[in-house]
Amino acid sequence: MEYNFPITRNESPKEKPAAGTSLGFGKYFTDHMFMMDYDEGQGWHDGRIIPYQNLSIDPAATSLHYGQMMFEGLKAYRNPQGKINLFRPDMNAKRLNRTNARMCIPPMDEDLFVAAVKAIVEIDQDWIPTEQGCSLYIRPFIISPEVSFSVLPAKKYWFIIVLSAVGAYYEGNESKLHGSHIWVEEEYIRAAVGGTGFAKCGGNYGCGMIAAAEAKKKGCEEVLWLDAKEHKYVEEVGTSNAFFKINGTIITSSLTGSILPGVTRDSCLQLLKKWGYNVEERRLGIAEVIEAAKNGTLEEAWATGTACVISPIGVLYYDGKQFPINDEVVGDVSQKLYDTLYGMQIGTVEPEMEGWVVTLD
Ligand SMILES: *Cc1c(COP(=O)(O)O)cnc(C)c1O
Repeated sequence: MEYNFPITRNESPKEKPAAGTSLGFGKYFTDHMFMMDYDEGQGWHDGRIIPYQNLSIDPAATSLHYGQMMFEGLKAYRNPQGKINLFRPDMNAKRLNRTNARMCIPPMDEDLFVAAVKAIVEIDQDWIPTEQGCSLYIRPFIISPEVSFSVLPAKKYWFIIVLSAVGAYYEGNESKLHGSHIWVEEEYIRAAVGGTGFAKCGGNYGCGMIAAAEAKKKGCEEVLWLDAKEHKYVEEVGTSNAFFKINGTIITSSLTGSILPGVTRDSCLQLLKKWGYNVEERRLGIAEVIEAAKNGTLEEAWATGTACVISPIGVLYYDGKQFPINDEVVGDVSQKLYDTLYGMQIGTVEPEMEGWVVTLD
C-alpha cells in the first residue's frame, strides 16, 4: 500500500551541530516529527509530518500516570552513494506489535510503520551525521492523551516519531570499541517472566536506573542483569543483549519472556551461524561464566543493541572481585561482528543477508 503523509514544513529550521560536535545521545533533534492518531472505531489515522514541537497533553492523561506506552529505536545512516540506509526496520515493526499486544495498545500495519519511518527520515535527511560512529537515531513511540484515572487501556493514542543526530553510545569512545566494566547485579532485577521484559515499554527502564546509577558509583559503566526469580542466570547488559564465548561456543540467553528480543541480537545469531560458529541460545548461569573466567575459557563477552551495535565487555565485577575478560582486549568475534554489522549499516560492507539493509530511493 502507498501511504501519503501531508507535510507541514518547519519555517524556522534549527542550526545543525557543527562538524566535530560531541553529539551525545538525544541532544540534537531535527526540524520535523511524525504524528498519527488512533481513535477507537477509526483505527490509526491522519499520519502527518509537522514541525518538531512540544506536545500539549492534559495532566490527567493516562500514560503519565500508569505508563501505558511503548517505544522503538533504530538508526539511519548515509551510505557512500549518498543514499539513506535503514537496518531491518520490519523487525522493529514486528516488535512494536508484540509490545503493543502486551501493553493493550492497538496494533499497527507493519507497512504503515515502515512508511512513516521512511517519510520522516527522508524529510530530515540533512541531519544524518556522517562522522564515524554517528547516526540519525529514530525514536518511534506511542502514548495516550486520554484523560482518566481508571487503570484501563485507553481508546485514543498518539504515534510519534522523533529523530536525533547521535554520536556513538559510549561517551568519549565515539569511534573505537573498548571493553567496558560491568557490574553483575545481584540485588535489583529488571524484569520477571510474566511481566514486560520482552516489551519495549517505559516501565522497564525507569525501574533499572537505580542499578545503573549504583554501578556507576562503583566504577562500572553498566550492569549485567540476572534472572528475577533465582538471581542465577544472566539476562542482559543494561539495555543491550549479552553474548559470552566460552571454550569456543557462543552463548546468549534464550528468549525466556524477560529478555528483550533485540534486532542486533538476532542479527548476530544469524551471522555467527552463517560463519560456522557453534552458537547456543539457552539459560546461562552466572556461576558458569565466573568459572570460565577463572579457568581461562571465557574468551569474549559483548553486549548488542542498536545504540552501541557491539559493546565488548572488558571486566565483570562479581562477588567483590574483578574478572577481566581477554585481558580487557577487544576480542576477534566482537570486532568482526561490529565491523560487519556497522559496515552493512553504513553501506561500506556488502550486506551478507538479503533484505537487511533497506536503502531509501
Ligand atoms: C532495545 C533493547 C535491546 C536491544 O535491541 P535492539 O533491537 O538490538 O536495539 C536490548 N535490551 C533492551 C532491554 C532493550 O530495550
